[in-house]
Amino acid sequence: MDNPASRLIEDPRENVDYNFRRAADRLGLDDEMRTLLTMPFRELRVEIPVRLDDGSLRVFVGYRVQHSGVRGPSKGGIRYHPATDLNEIRALAAAMTWKTSLVNIPFGGAKGGIAVDPAQMTTGELQRLTRGYIRRIGLFLGPFRDIPAPDMNTNAQVMTWIFDEYSAQHGYTPACVTGKPVELGGSLGREAATGRGVAFLIETLMKDLGMPLVGARVAVQGFGNVGSFATRFLAEAGAKVVAVADVKGGVLNERGLDVKALLNYARDNRTISGFPGAREISSEEVLTVDCDILIPAALQCVLTKKNADKVRARIVAEGANLPTTPEADEILVRRGVHVLPDILTNAGGVTVSYFEWAQNLQQMFWEEDHVNAEMHKILARAYRQVADMAAKEKIPLREAAYTIAVDRVARAERLRGT
Ligand code: NAD
Repeated sequence: MDNPASRLIEDPRENVDYNFRRAADRLGLDDEMRTLLTMPFRELRVEIPVRLDDGSLRVFVGYRVQHSGVRGPSKGGIRYHPATDLNEIRALAAAMTWKTSLVNIPFGGAKGGIAVDPAQMTTGELQRLTRGYIRRIGLFLGPFRDIPAPDMNTNAQVMTWIFDEYSAQHGYTPACVTGKPVELGGSLGREAATGRGVAFLIETLMKDLGMPLVGARVAVQGFGNVGSFATRFLAEAGAKVVAVADVKGGVLNERGLDVKALLNYARDNRTISGFPGAREISSEEVLTVDCDILIPAALQCVLTKKNADKVRARIVAEGANLPTTPEADEILVRRGVHVLPDILTNAGGVTVSYFEWAQNLQQMFWEEDHVNAEMHKILARAYRQVADMAAKEKIPLREAAYTIAVDRVARAERLRGT
């Protein structure tokens, strides 16, 4: 039989659209609704001239795609990466719509990015770039319009420049962006939230499967915000982290890496490459090492038909957005690998961003324990719905997650009327 997945190329947009179509088929959505739910609401492409420290002028290209605002203001991170383009941002914006819907928080989906390698920029240049970007897209942002957050290569400092630039134009508006430092209205628990959620969902799935987490072997690709916090929380829960990798390379030790030392090393050296007491591996090799749990926590489309049959993990927990192509997904599912899908697995970040936004609107501050408990509640509820539907319909977790998410947005779209 013709397999629709086999016609696809490694394209993040195809990745998210394929999963959408599968859910739309299951829900019996008509063509008009499919068009409404896949077309982005608004796409911005801006050119940002920046005076570099050496006096020269360079023009960068930035994007902001607002995929959906049907269930609430658009929400999604901002990425700085040399390979960022409109297609990638479109795909990531759509994934945000399905993610916020799945965890049932009152947002739509958006994503932004600038094609830049921030490692080549000074702090001053990055600040001017960020402010220039916000001056160009600021009219389309706002607490009830579109709220950015951190993503790859952006952090609380970048969010502060966004907050400051937006507030300079519109008056003090902390709720215009999330992932801010706690000193400026950020939420306790936000920085660690995505990784904490990843670890929590792995633990929840393993309980369901009757697999012990203590002693389970973990491999992680990407040791930034998501990967490093997920690693830390899993190690604290008793898992054995055997391999980690970042853009510069990876390290492997079958007996288990010293995670505390690894975190310190990463902080001091801005990479885990060269960490002593471990064998060097490549950034890609980490995906196929012998382990129980694999966490892709870097870029999209890293698990493909070329390497999916070499994955030795029993669980793949998607910390990154869109890391698995549909073809790879099918191979993993066929091989009995449990795939925890991105729109569920990494939703802890946007969930705590929602808490940050709500705290800012009310000028209230929550205790960290309260933040974590509320996040766990939301993730546990979403997990239960997904796992129950998957069991009842005998479908993979990803198909169940997209079906629930797409159904919720379709209902909202119908109610609002187009
Ligand atoms: P980050 O910039 O903090 O870290 C990215 C990490 O990936 C770094 O260690 C980098 O060296 C590594 N990396 C980059 N290219 C790589 C490659 N080719 N091979 C191996 N490693 C590579 O970014 P982050 O915020 O941790 O985001 C990681 C992923 O998680 C992205 O897909 C992002 O969209 C997703 N995500 C992030 C959040 C969040 O709250 N930050 C929330 C949900 C999803």
